[in-house]
Formats: sequence, structure tokens, C-alpha cells
Amino acid sequence: MTAPCYECGAEAVLEGLCSRCYQNKHPLVQVRSPLSLIACRRCGAVRTSDGWIKLQTFSSDPDKITDRQIEILLEQETNILGLEVETSYVEEKKLDRVTHIRLNVSGKSHSSLPTHDESYPLEIRFEFSTCASCTMMSGGYHEAILQVRADDRILTETEEDVIHGLVTDLTIAEYGNDARAFVIETSRDKYGLDFKVGSEHLCRRIADQLESGFLAQRKENYKLIGQDRGGKKKYRITILIRLQRFSQNDFVLVEGTPCQVVSMGKGGLGCYNLLDGCSFTINQKSSKWRSLEFLAEASERRQYMIVSKVQNQPIQLMDSVTFEMHEIDSSVFLSNVAAGDTIYALSYSGRILPLPS
Ligand SMILES: [Zn+2]
Ligand SMILES: [Zn+2]
Repeated sequence: MTAPCYECGAEAVLEGLCSRCYQNKHPLVQVRSPLSLIACRRCGAVRTSDGWIKLQTFSSDPDKITDRQIEILLEQETNILGLEVETSYVEEKKLDRVTHIRLNVSGKSHSSLPTHDESYPLEIRFEFSTCASCTMMSGGYHEAILQVRADDRILTETEEDVIHGLVTDLTIAEYGNDARAFVIETSRDKYGLDFKVGSEHLCRRIADQLESGFLAQRKENYKLIGQDRGGKKKYRITILIRLQRFSQNDFVLVEGTPCQVVSMGKGGLGCYNLLDGCSFTINQKSSKWRSLEFLAEASERRQYMIVSKVQNQPIQLMDSVTFEMHEIDSSVFLSNVAAGDTIYALSYSGRILPLPS
């Protein structure tokens, strides 16, 4: 026979208390009310004792933004005391700058007790300020400029899309960790794209990806922009990424042999030898790289129709645009075609070089 609960006289289960009195003495959470929520009026970030916390959700719905802000505040301000604690909240009343919510909590006060629920009415008072990032952004702060150009040509639309996508993805990836992870200005002119980047670290990450992804050349320049209050000189870096003269599907010469570029990326430059149909890869460290020359753009290829193909006879081709007739002895790329088929080929120093289908 156990002694009764010293609080209420019911059957005691733990430390002289019944389960309900034990739970009352050992609440699942500790949380104050009212709470003040200081939010950035530009981006919605929430100020906490750990600094500004970004929302990480990109929504224009004010209710979703408020939800996320309250979640951040509650994560910071709710002191979890129990075991297996889960929390959620419902909004009960919303005034101009004050929101009343109910925090619902479930969990265990002790491992030997069952799960129970608790509920806390909380008042949240909103205040508005401007976060560190937004202050820097509005002041035009940027540590680095990224310039993307291409060698002796303009950037293609596909390249511009890839570059913009990469800048956006990497900025979002750094957004929560680095208060300066922003791009204050993007500009485009006939030479290429320019980005003014808040953090040098982010700019370098973007440049690294562009350099390896496009097998591009890279140059860095520091420019003195002033001195800080302590007299220390301040510099801004400009990183120039120059893409190759050729891009994917263009034609190049490798050690004088005409090839088509089939892939470009971290693994190197994938080439297709248009004479023997062999594939190979080179990178900036290969000796062949130094012999690399631009030959023609992908759009230089022409369409031809196979007019006749008879064994031991030259293959006859007709240019689909000019109807000019050509003869070629044979090509590794033409073993599976028959008269009437159309193919693509590159005209190179008087020869017709069929492309892989
Ligand atoms: Zn009791
Ligand atoms: Zn902000």
C-alpha cells in the first residue's frame, strides 16, 4: 500500500505525488507572456538573442510570414522542460500590433508517466526595425563585383540563364548563414553580366562554380575603396570570369583535328573527333588543351540529304538549302544511314564532315 498524494490525497505514483500533481509541479515548458517580436520591416527577419534570424521562406502572403515569425520567436522563447515535447499554436485574436495565441504542448513530465497536454495563452507584441542585412543592402554595401564575360563573343541566352540560376541558388544557400549574402545589383550590357555581391565569400563561391562549370578563365583585382575609422585600408575585389570562345555543341580544333564539344563541366571538355568518331576528354591541365582552337559555332552545321549510297562508291549528298551536290568517300557517322535520310554536317576546309546523329 503506497501513501496517498501529499497534495490532493489521490493515489501517489511518483515522489509522493499523484500523476496530475506531479505534472502540475513539472510543466512541459516554461514560456513568458507577453513576448515582444522584433521583425525587420523589409525582409521579415526576427531579432533574437542570437542575432537576426532570416525567415528562409519566400512568401508574399503576410499571414505566412507572421506564422513563420511567431514560430521563430517561440523556438527561441520556449524553454522545454519535459520529455518528447511537441508544440503547436493557434491564433486566437489579432489586433494591429498584438496577437494572442494559444500554445499547445504535449509530452511527458517524467519517463514513467503517460503523455499529457498543456495549453498556454500568450500575447505577442510586434515591433518593427531594420535588420543588419537590409541596412547594408539599402546602403549599397558590396564587398565584391563579379563580372562574367565570354572570349571574343557575347554570352548566349542559355549561358545567361545558367549564370543567373547559379547566382540565385548560391545566394539562397548562404542566405541564412551570412548577413551579407545578397546581390544588390545585377546589370547586363553588350559585354556581359555584372553582379554587385554583398559578401566576398559568396562572390568567390559563385566564381568557383562558374570557373569549373564553364572551364573559364579567372582574374582577380583588388581596388582600394577607402579606409575604416582605424585607418585600415579597405579593398573591394573584382572577379572576372571569362568564358571560353566556344560553348557546348560548337566546333573546335584539338591538335589540328576538327571536333565537336559535347560536354563542358567539372570533369573537363568532352570532345567528339569528327574524323574517327572517337570521344575523349581534356582539361586545362592536359597538354592537348594548349592546342585548343575555336573553329565554328554550332549554328554553322548544315543539313544534307543522302542522295545515293552504294557500296564501294562515294556517298552523294545534297545541301538542303543550296541544293549543291557533294561527294564523300565514307564516314564513321554514315554507316547506318540510307538514301533519302537527312544528316547534319560541318563544312571544313573543303570537306564535308558528317556529325553524329
Ligand atoms: Zn495529487
Ligand atoms: Zn531585413
